[in-house]
Amino acid sequence: MARRQAQPPPRFALAPERRLGLAQGGLRLAAVHPAPPEEGLASLAIHALCALAEAAGVGAEPVFLPARPGERPRGHLSGLPAGEFDLWAVSAAFEEQWPTLPWLLTRAGVPARAAARDHRHPIVLLGGVAARLNPAPVLPFIDLLAPGDAEAILPALLERLEAGRGAGREALLDSLRGLAGLAVRPFEGPPVACVFTAPARPIVEQLPRGRSLLPDMLLVETGRGCPAGCRFCAIGYTRRPPMFFPPAAILEAVGAASAPGRRVGLVGASLGRHPGLGELLEGLLGQGLDLSPASLDPAVLAGPEGPRLAAALARGAQRTVTLAPEAGTERLRRVIHKGFADAELEAAVRRLGEAGVLHLKLYMMYGLPTEADEDLDAAAALVGRARAWLDAAHRGRGGTGRVSVSLNPFVPKPRTPFELEPMPRADDLRRRRGRLFSALGRSGGVRPGGMGVRRAILQALLTRADPGCATLLEACQGRWPPPAGLLAALAPDLEDRVHAPWPAGRPVPWGAVETGVSPAFLLAERARALQGLPGPACAPGGACRACGACGAGDPP
Ligand code: SF4
Repeated sequence: MARRQAQPPPRFALAPERRLGLAQGGLRLAAVHPAPPEEGLASLAIHALCALAEAAGVGAEPVFLPARPGERPRGHLSGLPAGEFDLWAVSAAFEEQWPTLPWLLTRAGVPARAAARDHRHPIVLLGGVAARLNPAPVLPFIDLLAPGDAEAILPALLERLEAGRGAGREALLDSLRGLAGLAVRPFEGPPVACVFTAPARPIVEQLPRGRSLLPDMLLVETGRGCPAGCRFCAIGYTRRPPMFFPPAAILEAVGAASAPGRRVGLVGASLGRHPGLGELLEGLLGQGLDLSPASLDPAVLAGPEGPRLAAALARGAQRTVTLAPEAGTERLRRVIHKGFADAELEAAVRRLGEAGVLHLKLYMMYGLPTEADEDLDAAAALVGRARAWLDAAHRGRGGTGRVSVSLNPFVPKPRTPFELEPMPRADDLRRRRGRLFSALGRSGGVRPGGMGVRRAILQALLTRADPGCATLLEACQGRWPPPAGLLAALAPDLEDRVHAPWPAGRPVPWGAVETGVSPAFLLAERARALQGLPGPACAPGGACRACGACGAGDPP
């Protein structure tokens, strides 16, 4: 690996201990998030990668997209050119970050294709949630794939890289073969199994964030994965069994890192299902900290913990709460495994309003399997009723809340029970969207927004792409969505890949990764979905063998 003397530009503020770490001549790790800095600094994965590397004695810092066109990517703290790091640990959260990866490599002076790189270039490791779904389109760009928890693989990987310093590139890569949870190119062997851990402490942000999204908020994770089993959502199926950090560990991490006046952003897909939710809320508010959960389950708010949760949110000056009904009828919610009743949503909204929460954000989907026009009409009506419930709760209290709605097309995600469902065609999706928007416009008082149809279809293309898509990703030169001509030339099978039923017997493109959840379980879940039946409750730590992630067993 090449080494040149770093010349940090003066605009980078490098903490003394990190300057030392990079100057000692040891390994240099770039924690790469293929996004702008303000977005990347709000990614806990980047903070975790830097903390893990530094705990192993390796100098580390983030690398993001350059702030200005024409600039080369550099270490965010030192300004070291990104091509001079020894290891790029890339954490990708969304498929839409794929087109950025080859462009970022090229901008750093590194050949995008792994096969074209030599001893002068960094080794490129890919992890993150998107790597767990379908990494196939970016396999030609990476040397290493680690789809599990970073804690499970990074320390051993860094140890081997350190021990192999001075060896040739291929010898270094060979020295990594056999590490559990890691695949080494050319990725032709059996699938790599995700290795998950149960860390004692949650990730809490480590790096100065400066100008970033949510700058006044201290981010801390509450758990990994989700036991809710929503059948459209990959989070609940790609990290099994799910785990929650004990309230004491979260409170300790927050206490060590927080500053007065900062809000605490709780990062985790299923805060409402945290077994120590009440204790956690009381502890955070007892430290005088405002809290901000990502979104909450209406059934939890309507349940026994609901009043305490709503009061805690309001006491913490939480002005907007996000709920995700996703569908307008109880029938369709049973299909997607969001089994709460309209009455529970009403109780949740009223509780929030009465507790003092001012604004509501609702997530709704369209284009879902089995969806009919009456589901769309019911979705618009449900949003209108939520508006009325909130107004009624505020009456006499002096508040006037807003209700905003994020309307998003259903995108079939790999590794979910709906992974092979065809997505409705663009004109059909636009018709459904138009119907929803019109109905919402008639009821008034709500602000609709959300992802557009074209963007959703292109997201579906990336989720179902194979390594042949790498040519398109390179040609995009960091732009996404790509120009129409490029798409027609380099993704001519888009219509079939996204909108047609997946041919029986055709291998899925995401076979390079094994999550532990059995295909038979996903099929059984799909069958239950079509009958509107619930799936088995996910309760780790006992005898459950339902999905295969906690050990082999017969799917129910
Ligand atoms: S085997 Fe059971 S408890 Fe374990 S992850 Fe699967 S559903 Fe959850």
